Amino acid sequence: MRIGAHVDPAAPLDEAAARGADLVQFFLADPQGWTAPKPRSDAGALAGGQVDVYVHAPYVINVATLNNRIRIPSRKLLLSHAKAAAAVGAKGLIVHGGHVGGGELAKGFDNWRKTFAYAAESGGFPLPVLIENTAGGDNACARRLDALARLWDAVGEYDEVGFCLDTCHAHAGGEELLGLVDRVKAVTGRIDLIHANDSRDPFDSGRDRHDNLGRGQIDPELIVAVVRAAGAPVVVETPGGAEGQGADISFLRDRLSR
Ligand SMILES: [Zn+2]
Repeated sequence: MRIGAHVDPAAPLDEAAARGADLVQFFLADPQGWTAPKPRSDAGALAGGQVDVYVHAPYVINVATLNNRIRIPSRKLLLSHAKAAAAVGAKGLIVHGGHVGGGELAKGFDNWRKTFAYAAESGGFPLPVLIENTAGGDNACARRLDALARLWDAVGEYDEVGFCLDTCHAHAGGEELLGLVDRVKAVTGRIDLIHANDSRDPFDSGRDRHDNLGRGQIDPELIVAVVRAAGAPVVVETPGGAEGQGADISFLRDRLSR
């Protein structure tokens, strides 16, 4: 099982080495901004190396929203990040499930479908788009499994669609980790990536604050059980830099080898 970390984008391969990581995830542009990614001088090294690469799309992207001044730029930014992610050999582009205001969740799912239809007009996304479950929001598309099922009804037919399961988001979002992988797979048929994070906040708090494994409010053995059951690559998005994340990676490797 390949395990790595979310790292600073300046020198991802150095960060991987510092953590003993099999893979890295990073941003290609400001996660809080609308700037399109720039070409990277290390694209060849990233694409051709032993370390697998995943790219996380900016947090500002919300393709589900009814606000077209957010939704339309979100679609375009997601596609530009997908192209840039493919250029660095990424195995997937992770994007949050998003949310809608005003309780019209059905339109949010349809907006997700339109996102893939929009991309299909120009040949489709050039790599898997891994929709990630989120911790918060009352009208979130991928917080709880009932919503996720409706989302998958809308987008599951597209070849580029995948799923990223974040353990912190599931816990804080109100989904029990025990047996979660089976419940998710019953909906999506797949888990492409695990974000293995502890949570600083209680169950169903709706808050999104990651912690190192065993330091937060989740039983770390439950996180191990999710990772084991999913059988997918793992990213820790935890604090503490190379030391903290390296310890989390070692913890997972140790437990998974038993
Ligand atoms: Zn995550």
